[in-house]
Amino acid sequence: MKVSIYGAGYVGLVTAACLAEIGHEVLCADVDSSKIAILQSGASPIYEPGLETLLQRHQATGKLRFTAELPTAASFGLVQFIAVGTPSLANGAANLSAVFAVAELIGQHINQFCVVVDKSTVPIGTAKLVTEKIQQALNARKANIAFTVVSNPEFLKEGAAINDFMQPDRIVLGCEDEKATQIMHELYAPLIADAPNKWLVMDVLSAELTKYAANAMLATRISFMNEISHVAEKVGANIEHIRQGIGADKRIGPHFLNAGCGYGGSCFPKDVRALLSTAQEVDINMPLLQAVECVNERQKTVLFDKLSAIFNQDLTNKVIAVWGLAFKPNTDDIREATSRVLCEALWQQGATVRAYDPVAIEEFRHVYGERTDMHYCADKETALQGADALVIVTEWDEFRSPNWSLIKTSLSQPVIVDGRNLFEPKELRALGIQYHSIGR
Ligand code: NAD
Repeated sequence: MKVSIYGAGYVGLVTAACLAEIGHEVLCADVDSSKIAILQSGASPIYEPGLETLLQRHQATGKLRFTAELPTAASFGLVQFIAVGTPSLANGAANLSAVFAVAELIGQHINQFCVVVDKSTVPIGTAKLVTEKIQQALNARKANIAFTVVSNPEFLKEGAAINDFMQPDRIVLGCEDEKATQIMHELYAPLIADAPNKWLVMDVLSAELTKYAANAMLATRISFMNEISHVAEKVGANIEHIRQGIGADKRIGPHFLNAGCGYGGSCFPKDVRALLSTAQEVDINMPLLQAVECVNERQKTVLFDKLSAIFNQDLTNKVIAVWGLAFKPNTDDIREATSRVLCEALWQQGATVRAYDPVAIEEFRHVYGERTDMHYCADKETALQGADALVIVTEWDEFRSPNWSLIKTSLSQPVIVDGRNLFEPKELRALGIQYHSIGR
């Protein structure tokens, strides 16, 4: 099947590569011509495990092509995916300008029937607005071309995105038109052949709300555990034992129960805010979700607060080694990452940061540039040199078995603040390390 994809970001590229992998002919378009140039040269502009290999393989087979000429994409696909960004506006609502720009372009340039897919995370009611935009553009050119807009939210996790796409827990389709449903079923058939119960067709509004509800639920679990971790810390309990104790309950399940230093990334924070904003528009108060967001904001300052307490509220001229800048492992994404809140607070207090991340250094440098109070280090050992304490922000695997004696000799005092509970407090105490973690 011929497929056009607008947006060559995390979602657009993974969708493009995976649809090519299951045999479709894909044309992926992006307004960012520098990104397209990188892709055409065979490289990936983002870090996502396994992605570059797939991109190269299918550019070689000719199943996957990239273009900065957006109208070419509009006249190509039977299925047209909108996978552009929907960042937060200042009031928390989703910014739909890129989605609408693509809708208008589709209306201006399609020349045959197509199914337009809202793959971006968009507020409830957006499919209707996208339909109107396309129709307006068609009317303006007096074109009588049929199309159907469907909702097909994406649930992939950065860092495991290829696997999530190829082996989905479910595929949600919001569609009330039989022909479009059939086309979408055919598109995804190889992914659901062995598990037809993964194919969930529903009305468009429910599909749109399902995506927000899923992220809101996951964010809620995290904030809940973070809140319990504060109680655990105060009363002398251990949040890791509590996690196991409640996760073993089948009604609760073990996933997404890790206390830590707050959730970040391009989805949870903005999607929670967007759902709150949608609720407000329809006069619904969501105190639970407001609290989820509020708890998370507080949690993002926990690492700084612990450091500050350790150094008697004076971090002036202190040097802090930071391991991990990405919002989670296996990605270079630093959108709304806790590392940003931490580094900004440290700089503000006159401290210097020595940071290492396996892949996110360039993204961080891109956002913050070169500064005298920020040293971007080539490896985790270099980050320790001359530092007064080590803070672990991202749970990259390579941080899990460090060289303890090197840590002790490199740091001016053996202080570790661990935002991801990677180690056993007892073991580190036995090594003579002053170890602070979350909820233990
Ligand atoms: P991204 O910022 O990585 O990529 C968006 C891309 O769209 C950029 O390359 C940008 O240049 C391009 N773009 C902007 N305007 C365009 C236009 N008019 N025409 C063509 N391209 C245009 O974003 P992302 O992380 O891939 O997220 C895309 C959407 O998917 C968002 O709504 C997001 O909430 C949702 N989503 C993201 C994830 C994730 O883990 N990243 C998971 C599920 C859903």
